[in-house]
Amino acid sequence: MNIRTQLTLRYIGILLLVMFAMYLYLGTMLKDSMSKRITRELETQAALTRELLIEKLPAEDNFTYNAIDPLIDRLGKTEKARLTFIGTDGTVWGDTERDGQALRAMDNHLKRPEVQEALKNGSGIRDRYSDTTQTEFRYFALPIHRTVGAEEPQEEDPLIGICRVAFPMEDVNTAIGNLRRIALLASVAGLILAIVFSVFSTGAITKPIEKLTQMTQSLAAGNVNSRVPVDSRNELGQLSQNFNLMADRVQEQIDEISEEHRRSETILTNMGEGVLLVNGVFEVTYANPTAISMLELPDDYIGKALIEINRIPELQALLKKAEQTETIAFAEIQLGNIQEPEAEVTIVPVSAGQEYVIVIHDVTKERQLERIRADFVANVSHELRTPLTAIRGYAETLLGEDSVRTKTGEQFLVKILNHSARLSRLVSDLLELSRLELGEVELKRLLCHLNTFYEPILDVFEPLLEESGLILKWEIPEELPEVNVDQQLFMQIFINLIDNAIKYTPDGGTITVSGEINSGDVLENSDTIGEEIVVHVKDTGIGIPMESQSRVFERFYRVDKGRAQEMGGTGLGLAIVKHIVLRHNGRIWLDSVLGQGSVFHVAIPLSD
Ligand code: ADP
Repeated sequence: MNIRTQLTLRYIGILLLVMFAMYLYLGTMLKDSMSKRITRELETQAALTRELLIEKLPAEDNFTYNAIDPLIDRLGKTEKARLTFIGTDGTVWGDTERDGQALRAMDNHLKRPEVQEALKNGSGIRDRYSDTTQTEFRYFALPIHRTVGAEEPQEEDPLIGICRVAFPMEDVNTAIGNLRRIALLASVAGLILAIVFSVFSTGAITKPIEKLTQMTQSLAAGNVNSRVPVDSRNELGQLSQNFNLMADRVQEQIDEISEEHRRSETILTNMGEGVLLVNGVFEVTYANPTAISMLELPDDYIGKALIEINRIPELQALLKKAEQTETIAFAEIQLGNIQEPEAEVTIVPVSAGQEYVIVIHDVTKERQLERIRADFVANVSHELRTPLTAIRGYAETLLGEDSVRTKTGEQFLVKILNHSARLSRLVSDLLELSRLELGEVELKRLLCHLNTFYEPILDVFEPLLEESGLILKWEIPEELPEVNVDQQLFMQIFINLIDNAIKYTPDGGTITVSGEINSGDVLENSDTIGEEIVVHVKDTGIGIPMESQSRVFERFYRVDKGRAQEMGGTGLGLAIVKHIVLRHNGRIWLDSVLGQGSVFHVAIPLSD
């Protein structure tokens, strides 16, 4: 039921109640006032009649029907009421309604209640049904005393009869009924008018509400342009105005959001990276065009589990990793079956693991360029090796010749020899790095204990350690399991790390090589879940400043160029170590405090 009908019904209900109350009140009031008027009139008439009768009545002994009834009839005619004269014994001597025989046949009226009351109290009034006329009458009776002496009749004067005036109540009831009918008709007419009025007036109230309702419905349906006309200044007008303001704000915000959405959509559609959004159960909720083409997603990818529509196991594994670690997961993944395309995939868990953002960066071109560069470096290094060996050979031979052994000649030859030796180191380091980068170095894995590296390392470094007064502590426990590594390359890791430690540790320092098993959660910086062996090469040297720590694995990066060159470094040592570690699917990182020392950590998975 709408508000208009409700209001109208309430109006009508109230009106009905008021009219019913008025109708009742009017009816009672009318009856009451008429009744009082009739009583008053009866009283006056009775008093008048009594006066006339006292005068006109014959002596009591001469009471006859013929003497009294005409008198009563005459008086009754003038008074337009039923008039009755009753003797002291109850005989009805005269009555306006009966004549002749009928009068004589009338009952004795002494016992009539109004007569009894009049005899007792001086006047009697009664509403009752008349047996004589078969209608309802109001009777008023007064006793008549013969005046003796005094002007006014007295109580103690002799009683000569009772005069009674009666008024037919039927007329009154009919009059009241008529009046009530009129009141009822007026009420109905009023009610109809009131209904018409209430329909219109509630319409005036409810129309703006209906319009507001329509507008909110239309707003809810997404039509933000709908507004309500404001055509009054009352609360409803204000409400409409506020609604319009609210709609304006909503529209503004929607416009802003749409613009924002359009911008993000443009960026996402046109960016070179593939962007995917998956929910907590890895169902795709969004994919930009690049992601769709990179992962070759079908048309109906929305809502599908990623595993159903894309079968790259590494991607699933990376998602699982992001889910388990609840942190950003990163990996290089091959998207196609053959070598290319390659991609860097980053997965970021958002909304407490309820969603994951997958960003796929195609690095195929970069990798190609890197390969071209590494190829070039490898070729150049290779080409440089032969002439360099020749230069060194000639310089060494010349140094042995007496003919050139002048002082300056010898100095120059030593310099040529030193520089060419440095160049040789650089060229062989470059060549090794390029071959590692190009994947040309084949791993010859063998199971071995890390302690097997101790003796050969000591052979290499003993003289150097003694020279610089450094101590090498080898603290790899015997109970560590064997690792499956390319021994020659792994030896290179130890050599490069210990060589650096010796170079950058002042005399008297200590270099400690230790090892342990990491089950995945023991060490900081560890994001590996499987078991791995971790080797730590620790020194008490100069340390590496914070800002350089992430860069020392880059080629040719040196913290202090002058010092590094003085030490005979090529700036490639750590880059080579990093590549060897990566070839073994391991990880490398470092901790260092400036002035206190550095620790290089190398982790190799045990499952390999
Ligand atoms: P280099 O041949 O110059 O030593 P590396 O690649 O081996 O080149 O090392 C890169 C740079 O990292 C070094 O030049 C040096 O500044 C710094 N570095 C490496 N190892 C250590 C260490 N143990 N202590 C302090 N600095 C180090």
